[in-house]
Amino acid sequence: MLPENFDRDEFIQQLRQKHARILPPDIAFAVEDGWLFIVQLALERIQESLERHGWAGRAKIKQVKEKWGELQIYVRPVMEVDSYPEPLAAELTAIRMMSAGDSLQTCEICGELGEPGNFDGYWQTLCSKHAEQRRAWVAGGRKGEIFD
Ligand SMILES: [Zn+2]
Repeated sequence: MLPENFDRDEFIQQLRQKHARILPPDIAFAVEDGWLFIVQLALERIQESLERHGWAGRAKIKQVKEKWGELQIYVRPVMEVDSYPEPLAAELTAIRMMSAGDSLQTCEICGELGEPGNFDGYWQTLCSKHAEQRRAWVAGGRKGEIFD
Protein backbone atom coordinates (compact mmCIF):
# COMPACT_ATOMS: atom_id res chain seq x y z
CA MET A 1 0.00 0.00 0.00
CA LEU A 2 1.28 3.44 -0.87
CA PRO A 3 1.66 6.18 1.73
CA GLU A 4 -0.65 9.22 1.56
CA ASN A 5 0.60 11.86 -0.87
CA PHE A 6 3.11 9.48 -2.40
CA ASP A 7 5.41 11.50 -4.67
CA ARG A 8 6.53 9.27 -7.54
CA ASP A 9 9.07 11.71 -8.99
CA GLU A 10 10.70 12.33 -5.65
CA PHE A 11 10.80 8.62 -4.82
CA ILE A 12 12.45 7.79 -8.15
CA GLN A 13 14.86 10.70 -7.76
CA GLN A 14 15.98 9.27 -4.41
CA LEU A 15 16.46 5.82 -5.96
CA ARG A 16 18.56 7.36 -8.74
CA GLN A 17 20.79 9.12 -6.20
CA LYS A 18 21.14 6.19 -3.84
CA HIS A 19 21.85 3.68 -6.61
CA ALA A 20 23.74 5.89 -9.06
CA ARG A 21 26.42 3.21 -9.28
CA ILE A 22 24.07 0.71 -10.86
CA LEU A 23 21.42 2.92 -12.51
CA PRO A 24 22.29 4.57 -15.82
CA PRO A 25 21.05 8.20 -15.65
CA ASP A 26 18.60 7.73 -18.51
CA ILE A 27 17.03 4.46 -17.35
CA ALA A 28 13.23 4.42 -17.33
CA PHE A 29 11.18 3.12 -14.41
CA ALA A 30 8.54 1.61 -16.67
CA VAL A 31 6.22 0.38 -13.91
CA GLU A 32 3.35 1.97 -11.99
CA ASP A 33 3.64 3.30 -8.45
CA GLY A 34 2.44 0.15 -6.66
CA TRP A 35 5.60 -1.71 -7.57
CA LEU A 36 8.17 0.96 -6.77
CA PHE A 37 8.79 -0.43 -3.27
CA ILE A 38 9.57 -3.84 -4.79
CA VAL A 39 11.99 -2.10 -7.18
CA GLN A 40 13.58 -0.27 -4.23
CA LEU A 41 14.19 -3.51 -2.35
CA ALA A 42 15.57 -5.25 -5.44
CA LEU A 43 17.99 -2.38 -6.16
CA GLU A 44 19.29 -2.49 -2.59
CA ARG A 45 19.86 -6.23 -2.81
CA ILE A 46 21.46 -6.07 -6.25
CA GLN A 47 23.84 -3.28 -5.23
CA GLU A 48 24.77 -5.07 -2.00
CA SER A 49 25.39 -8.32 -3.85
CA LEU A 50 27.55 -6.71 -6.54
CA GLU A 51 29.63 -4.89 -3.94
CA ARG A 52 30.13 -7.99 -1.83
CA HIS A 53 31.38 -9.90 -4.88
CA GLY A 54 33.73 -7.10 -5.89
CA TRP A 55 31.57 -6.17 -8.86
CA ALA A 56 30.74 -2.57 -7.94
CA GLY A 57 30.87 -0.49 -11.12
CA ARG A 58 31.08 -3.55 -13.37
CA ALA A 59 27.35 -4.15 -13.80
CA LYS A 60 24.41 -1.88 -14.43
CA ILE A 61 20.64 -2.12 -14.45
CA LYS A 62 19.53 -2.47 -18.04
CA GLN A 63 15.75 -2.40 -17.71
CA VAL A 64 12.99 -1.98 -15.13
CA LYS A 65 9.71 -2.94 -16.71
CA GLU A 66 6.50 -4.92 -16.62
CA LYS A 67 6.01 -7.97 -18.83
CA TRP A 68 3.01 -10.31 -18.74
CA GLY A 69 1.95 -8.79 -15.43
CA GLU A 70 5.36 -9.43 -13.84
CA LEU A 71 8.13 -7.08 -12.74
CA GLN A 72 11.35 -7.59 -14.71
CA ILE A 73 14.64 -6.07 -13.61
CA TYR A 74 17.64 -6.84 -15.79
CA VAL A 75 21.18 -6.32 -14.55
CA ARG A 76 24.01 -6.81 -17.03
CA PRO A 77 27.81 -6.55 -16.97
CA VAL A 78 29.04 -3.21 -18.32
CA MET A 79 31.58 -5.00 -20.51
CA GLU A 80 29.91 -7.47 -22.82
CA VAL A 81 32.83 -9.90 -22.50
CA ASP A 82 32.39 -10.03 -18.73
CA SER A 83 30.28 -12.75 -17.21
CA TYR A 84 29.20 -13.18 -13.62
CA PRO A 85 30.99 -15.69 -11.42
CA GLU A 86 28.65 -18.53 -10.45
CA PRO A 87 27.85 -17.42 -6.85
CA LEU A 88 27.02 -13.88 -7.99
CA ALA A 89 24.92 -15.17 -10.89
CA ALA A 90 22.97 -17.36 -8.44
CA GLU A 91 22.33 -14.42 -6.11
CA LEU A 92 21.18 -12.15 -8.91
CA THR A 93 18.83 -14.87 -10.14
CA ALA A 94 17.42 -15.30 -6.63
CA ILE A 95 16.84 -11.52 -6.33
CA ARG A 96 15.13 -11.43 -9.73
CA MET A 97 12.86 -14.34 -8.84
CA MET A 98 11.96 -12.80 -5.50
CA SER A 99 10.99 -9.44 -6.97
CA ALA A 100 9.11 -11.08 -9.85
CA GLY A 101 7.26 -13.31 -7.36
CA ASP A 102 6.38 -10.33 -5.16
CA SER A 103 5.08 -8.38 -8.15
CA LEU A 104 2.68 -11.20 -9.07
CA GLN A 105 0.95 -10.68 -5.71
CA THR A 106 1.01 -6.87 -5.66
CA CYS A 107 -1.33 -4.45 -7.45
CA GLU A 108 0.87 -2.44 -9.83
CA ILE A 109 -1.27 0.65 -9.24
CA CYS A 110 -1.75 0.83 -5.47
CA GLY A 111 0.53 -1.80 -3.91
CA GLU A 112 -2.30 -3.75 -2.27
CA LEU A 113 -2.63 -7.52 -2.63
CA GLY A 114 -3.23 -8.32 -6.29
CA GLU A 115 -3.21 -11.07 -8.86
CA PRO A 116 -2.35 -11.23 -12.57
CA GLY A 117 -5.30 -10.88 -14.92
CA ASN A 118 -5.82 -10.82 -18.67
CA PHE A 119 -7.55 -7.61 -19.72
CA ASP A 120 -8.52 -8.17 -23.32
CA GLY A 121 -5.05 -9.46 -24.20
CA TYR A 122 -3.04 -7.21 -21.92
CA TRP A 123 -1.76 -8.75 -18.69
CA GLN A 124 -1.53 -6.72 -15.54
CA THR A 125 -1.34 -7.60 -11.84
CA LEU A 126 -4.07 -5.68 -10.02
CA CYS A 127 -6.15 -5.67 -6.85
CA SER A 128 -9.88 -6.33 -7.24
CA LYS A 129 -10.74 -2.60 -7.28
CA HIS A 130 -8.25 -1.72 -10.02
CA ALA A 131 -9.07 -4.87 -12.00
CA GLU A 132 -12.70 -3.76 -12.00
CA GLN A 133 -11.72 -0.27 -13.19
CA ARG A 134 -9.60 -1.73 -15.95
CA ARG A 135 -12.44 -4.01 -17.11
CA ALA A 136 -14.88 -1.10 -17.09
CA TRP A 137 -12.42 0.97 -19.14
CA VAL A 138 -12.09 -1.80 -21.76
CA ALA A 139 -15.89 -2.30 -21.82
CA GLY A 140 -16.39 1.45 -22.22
CA GLY A 141 -14.30 1.67 -25.37
CA ARG A 142 -10.99 2.63 -23.71
CA LYS A 143 -11.84 6.27 -23.25
CA GLY A 144 -10.23 8.59 -20.71
CA GLU A 145 -8.23 7.52 -17.67
CA ILE A 146 -8.18 3.81 -16.81
CA PHE A 147 -7.79 4.30 -13.05
CA ASP A 148 -9.23 7.00 -10.85
ZN1 LIG B 1 -4.97 -1.60 -6.64
